[in-house]
Amino acid sequence: MKTNKNNGTILIIGAGGVASVSIHKCAMNAGVFKKIHVASRTKAKADAIKKDVKKRWGVPITTHQVDADKVPELVALIKKVKPYLVLNLALPYQDLTIMDACLKTKVHYIDTANYEPKDEAKFEYKLQWAKHAQFKKAGLMAVLGAGFDPGVTNMYCAYALKKFFTTIESVDILDANAGSHDKSFATNFNPEINIREVTQEVKHWENGKWIVTPAVMNKGSVHFAFDYPQIGPKESYLLFHEEMESLVKNLPGLKRMRFWMTFGENYLNHLRVMESIGISGIKPIPFKIKGKVEKVVPMEFLKALLPDPASLATNYSGKTNIGCIITGEKDGKKFTKYIYNVCDHAECFKEVGSQAISYTTGVPAMSAAYMLMTGQWGGAGVYNMEQLDPEPFLEIVSKNGLPFQVVDFKPLPEKI
Ligand code: NDP
Repeated sequence: MKTNKNNGTILIIGAGGVASVSIHKCAMNAGVFKKIHVASRTKAKADAIKKDVKKRWGVPITTHQVDADKVPELVALIKKVKPYLVLNLALPYQDLTIMDACLKTKVHYIDTANYEPKDEAKFEYKLQWAKHAQFKKAGLMAVLGAGFDPGVTNMYCAYALKKFFTTIESVDILDANAGSHDKSFATNFNPEINIREVTQEVKHWENGKWIVTPAVMNKGSVHFAFDYPQIGPKESYLLFHEEMESLVKNLPGLKRMRFWMTFGENYLNHLRVMESIGISGIKPIPFKIKGKVEKVVPMEFLKALLPDPASLATNYSGKTNIGCIITGEKDGKKFTKYIYNVCDHAECFKEVGSQAISYTTGVPAMSAAYMLMTGQWGGAGVYNMEQLDPEPFLEIVSKNGLPFQVVDFKPLPEKI
């Protein structure tokens, strides 16, 4: 089967908060995305997005049901739709099955989060990188981590390297959400994935090795108040984040890389309680349902109780600020740049009915698809974002609602 001809057809898998934004943005770029197909586990969610897209932009989309854990189902769907590329906006659990289906049907692949097995809270690129030779041989491109962080943050580093520096010495990625909604506790993207990420042991990169520190909600976690442009001072916690795994390999001369994310005391207290009573656990426990003992995963039960992140959008106010403080060298001179984006929850809601976390992920995901669809990125193999040209990508990201600022800055202290 030879489907990999650029026919302007995209297949988006997933119909959650992030997918919704990408679907709207594809519709807003209908000259590039000539046919938009959306497939998800619950077709009704895709149908609801379809209705809103038609109302806002007058663009028709086609919806399907698929279980993306099953390669044969995916293969049958891809053969039917014949897309040029698949944009995976389901969950990290589905990365490998969707990549395999793309290999079998010869279509390009893009995602926004690296693979994570369901039964172990451990995200890493290893199994996806292992598919490089297969994608290369098939003449196909797989782009990993095309959201904001990972995604745009990788590209801010690549952009700094292209525009300002010969070598990069240190990177501090800072991710602030100063938004407020009307829920006492909610996560901004899929609760299961989010809680697994933030309750992990923390790692940062220093002089060629990973340094381990306590998880954000635990005693001894590393944090400080950073004064974010357009937001103000916010307590920011050291966290391990997936883009660090590829950036430490791909940035020449890198000595230190840290990732910081803002958390409020209320959020951390909820995490502490959840962890202490075991409701964020991922090991199945026996639980009696209608007189029969079944296995229940506490985290999955918790997810069912927590608000759907997309539902926060209606009453979300305030802004996000995500960016990179980068110190590097050129012509014997050492200097620092801060590259960042500020995004407003309420503005996102007005435009596409979503909150800023979904928006800041969905816009770059559409933009990466735009790069492949318009032939501005090409290549065969598995790529992380910083291995691709940042300029045309950041231009499309900016045009589609996420412009960036570059300012001279001072490096953050080495010890915090
Ligand atoms: P949601 O939970 O809102 O949406 C996930 C969607 O995937 C749902 O529509 C869900 O279907 C669907 N899905 C889940 N399992 C399957 C399956 N087996 N087959 C088909 N569809 C399935 O998540 P988000 O939109 O918040 O997040 C989407 C992705 O974006 C995640 O991988 C997340 O980690 C990533 N992300 C990346 C960021 C970045 O900056 N790089 C930031 C934020 C998120 P159903 O409705 O039936 O549950």
